[in-house]
Amino acid sequence: MITKRAWTYKILLLTVFLLSIQPEFVESANLNNEFELQSNVSREGQMLNQPRKTNTPKRIALTFDDGPDMVNTPLLLDILKEEGVLATFFVVGNQVERYPEMTLRIFNDGHFIGNHSWTHADLSKLSNEDIIDLELAPTSKAIERLTGYYPKVIRPPYGSLREDSVKFLKKEGWQIVRWSLDTFDWDKTRNNPEDIVTRINRGHHSNAIILMHCNGGETVTALPNIIHNLRALGYDFVTVPRLLDLEG
Ligand SMILES: [Zn+2]
Repeated sequence: MITKRAWTYKILLLTVFLLSIQPEFVESANLNNEFELQSNVSREGQMLNQPRKTNTPKRIALTFDDGPDMVNTPLLLDILKEEGVLATFFVVGNQVERYPEMTLRIFNDGHFIGNHSWTHADLSKLSNEDIIDLELAPTSKAIERLTGYYPKVIRPPYGSLREDSVKFLKKEGWQIVRWSLDTFDWDKTRNNPEDIVTRINRGHHSNAIILMHCNGGETVTALPNIIHNLRALGYDFVTVPRLLDLEG
């Protein structure tokens, strides 16, 4: 019986050890100018067996989609300002038109504004010409009217884009950004603030692009802890263009 108990103890120890080293194997593999995630399936907990590069600076980008709104966006901006963190907001064009002053506040606070389409359309269902004419160009024009800056950095809603559209948009000078860590703050069944914080604590990695949203109070509640935890782990917060060395 002693032997059996000893083995149980050893297995327990081994399990604890394996769990403890897991974050060391989490490293983003495709940090080019684009995340080639061709499905709209998120990649929670995906582990890529690449060793951590110890000499690279630890940088991370917080991103907030689907804004601006007048409820949560100002609260997110207050927290980011208080913490001295710059982030990236992928805004929806018709929301920019509806809330110009909040769009301008994002810009004036020093955050990067990217294009998240005009209607939050599934771009994989549109022709390449319509993607630009109906969704991307009007959004960037609306941003430009307010800020003087015409973004060509986009995040397709749901991460959804056909391969031919990826090629077409690149040729037209658009830069496509997805994410490497989904907080699932968009999923009402699993977005309580503790879960959001835990997902980031487990999945963080250098050069991570963290997907969050403007339209949920849970994200607002979680944000201070997210920032404090990542800072304690030694991360610097940067905008997406700076992280990926893009224009803007
Ligand atoms: Zn979205």
